[in-house]
Amino acid sequence: MVEEILSNIYKIEVPLPGNPLKVLNSYFVKGGKRNLLIDTGFNRVECREALLNGLGTLGTDLERTDIFITHMHADHSGLVSAVAGEKSVVYCSEVDAQRIKWSQSPAYWAENRAHAASYGFPLEEYSKDMLRLPGQKYSPDKVPAFTTVKENDLIEVGAYRFICVETPGHTPGHLCLYEPECRIFISGDHILEDITPNITMFYKGLADPLGEYLKSLDKVDKMDVGLVLPGHRGIMRDVHRRIEELKKHYENRLGEVLDVLNEGMMSAYQVAGRITWDLNYSSWEEFPLEQKWFATGETMSHLEHLRHLDKVRKLWNNNKVFYEPRI
Ligand SMILES: [Zn+2]
Repeated sequence: MVEEILSNIYKIEVPLPGNPLKVLNSYFVKGGKRNLLIDTGFNRVECREALLNGLGTLGTDLERTDIFITHMHADHSGLVSAVAGEKSVVYCSEVDAQRIKWSQSPAYWAENRAHAASYGFPLEEYSKDMLRLPGQKYSPDKVPAFTTVKENDLIEVGAYRFICVETPGHTPGHLCLYEPECRIFISGDHILEDITPNITMFYKGLADPLGEYLKSLDKVDKMDVGLVLPGHRGIMRDVHRRIEELKKHYENRLGEVLDVLNEGMMSAYQVAGRITWDLNYSSWEEFPLEQKWFATGETMSHLEHLRHLDKVRKLWNNNKVFYEPRI
């Protein structure tokens, strides 16, 4: 489905079959000389058809279209090599571009799994199933030559002047785009309407991703934004209200993690199995493996943030990490 949001800015809905996110919002900005496509969908046939159909409806010449990737995740970057023409410039932050390159290698995923295992994820029970993780399965066929962009870099498309805004947290190199004159903020997965972005620890380079994420929320809160165009779900008008809700959510969540930890020393995986999740399963045991993986990563980021706040202590025992509250 293609919808015109503002003059020359279109939203193309790319379905994500079987994924709780349901749809990826790809944005297409029609320019005079060059167009800009923001995010692409998974590298799978259903996504490719929807995106190419949408672009076809808009009469897009791919050779005259550049691509902006908000962050490394496959639901945003997966189709980049399928869509980019020979003359397309593909923008991404240096940090996430590097990670897209690394994630092409099985060693990257092996390292992630070993990392998860040290935080209590029972890898041995699932070693074959782990291959189903979408980030590995639906990543781009080949890595394009990225043009890396950073804070305050400008991308002009027609009458629009987009400024790159670094918003680390959801991924270490997450970028948003801000158009100050029209007060448009293209938020990727940094700010979503009725869901919270997964803040995980499965990346090297950020010691406290949840702390970084909360700082990135404060940064956007200071900006003059009238319309938020997110990577998933609905478009938002009141960014400040949403930021307040998100901050409250993480505050409650951190409190819940601390309460659970008061039962005694636990691994991140054990804590994940005891806190509440907004998913339609009656027990932790029923969670599909993929959801247990994301839940464990999310719990790890909360525990590490509490450690940075000096509220919990991290202990190593036989190459496994455990946490206990500081009294
Ligand atoms: Zn996403």
